[in-house]
Amino acid sequence: MGGGLAWGTYLDSRNRVMPLYPLFADLRGRHVLVVGGGDVAARKTAMLLRAGASVTIGAPVLVPELREWVQQARIAYRAGTYQSDWLDGVWLVIAATRSRPLNARIAAEGHARQRWVNVVDDAELSSFQVPALIDRSPLLVAVSSSGIAPMLARRVRERIEGLLDPAFGSLLQLAQRYRARIRARYTNLAQRRRFYDWLHDGPVHARLRATQPTQAEQQLLAALDDRVSFRTQGSVALVGAGPGDPGLLTLRALRVLNEADVILHDALISDAILDLARRDAVRIAVGKRGGGEHTPQEMIHALLLEHARAGQRVVRLKGGDPFVFGRGGEELAFLRANGVACEVVPGITAALACAAYSGVPLTHRDHAQSVRLVTAHCRQSLDTLDWQELARERQTLAIYMGVGQLDELTRRLLAHGRAADTPFALIENGSLPQQRTLGGTLGDLPALAARHAVRAPALLILGEVAAAAQASHWYGEWIVDSPHRFSTPGTLADAA
Ligand code: SAH
Repeated sequence: MGGGLAWGTYLDSRNRVMPLYPLFADLRGRHVLVVGGGDVAARKTAMLLRAGASVTIGAPVLVPELREWVQQARIAYRAGTYQSDWLDGVWLVIAATRSRPLNARIAAEGHARQRWVNVVDDAELSSFQVPALIDRSPLLVAVSSSGIAPMLARRVRERIEGLLDPAFGSLLQLAQRYRARIRARYTNLAQRRRFYDWLHDGPVHARLRATQPTQAEQQLLAALDDRVSFRTQGSVALVGAGPGDPGLLTLRALRVLNEADVILHDALISDAILDLARRDAVRIAVGKRGGGEHTPQEMIHALLLEHARAGQRVVRLKGGDPFVFGRGGEELAFLRANGVACEVVPGITAALACAAYSGVPLTHRDHAQSVRLVTAHCRQSLDTLDWQELARERQTLAIYMGVGQLDELTRRLLAHGRAADTPFALIENGSLPQQRTLGGTLGDLPALAARHAVRAPALLILGEVAAAAQASHWYGEWIVDSPHRFSTPGTLADAA
């Protein structure tokens, strides 16, 4: 027997019986037969070769890739249609022919001779399944739906793929090399476990992620030789949380949030994002709260340093990107100067998110050759801007922190020659459920913004490209209130 059994017969009412026994097979140097010469056979063969199997392929004709491997003597080839004696001496059989009767015959004959047979995409005929794989060799995570719905198993695979750090394989390799020394150094099991936790959570893994394997090894050696105490090394990750929609977090941001002991976050970071962090992480809100109390930057520096020095994994979570009007640069410089291990995780900055969520292509080639990120948070900052430059045509301005200065901003742009009919899109709460987008032309900007009581956080996109929002906005509320039609020529213009 082999396949052909209904899985249901193995399951009791509480689903406690497994339909398959999970198995990781060492195929190095072992003979495996693949029947079939098409793309599927090639894919299966590639995987078998990676596992070191000695593969024989049997088929009348081969796709070019397989032919090449035969020429390179990487695989053996039996030309022709399947013969029973192909099964001689093989451990595993993969049947990947297009003919179900032939696949069935291979399975039946194989099973009669106690061979393990997989018929591709045919759980019923198979005696073993090949799982979906997350490969962080030497770490392997296999996912199987017991052959019922490989497509769905693949979706699970995608999710795990996202959660597992790409550097994890290198960490395991390093651990393998030092395994004996670690065991000798930490004879006590609890101590050893703490060491491995540190290996995973601390600077060694961080260095590997930063593709600095030599430094990673040095860190490991320093701890093994007692030159540093592995328990007291904290770290700080400066993490961009994006504009608000949790879906815009990067996978890396999600991972560090899951590993954090302490999270110092801007007051504006939403609960939806904080909910994704490790449950028992300590959360500290810093920064400005709607113009209210304000944590001085030195205080934030001191808090970061204090927690890192206490050996904790600290996440400094900021809106948007940490290096775009976020003072992340100062924090990084301060921490590095104090010898704290750091990493920076970029985030989607408000300009990019607001443009995407209001349908504005920031550098549409017909209308803009550059985009400028500008801050306009107070009168003084307006005085130091180069208005001549900002008023130029064929460039897009993305203005941060400008809602309080719209009158002044508009006045200066017009005074320096920017046309009053230049389109704008003003996006409030970009990417959040309460997003509103106000469109119009520069001359009407202050009046329109006042009439609709636009509040921070809002981002102003000014330039010919902003006209696109009228036709292309797709998210949140579009405020219809423009006394003038956009007059931008070309593809972005709204057909009158
Ligand atoms: N580091 C952040 C910017 C911080 S400055 C980033 O990269 O996005 C704060 C300003 O960013 C706000 O005044 C506003 O202009 C803009 N901003 C941040 N989040 C926003 C959002 N969800 N919608 C619109 N503007 C936003």
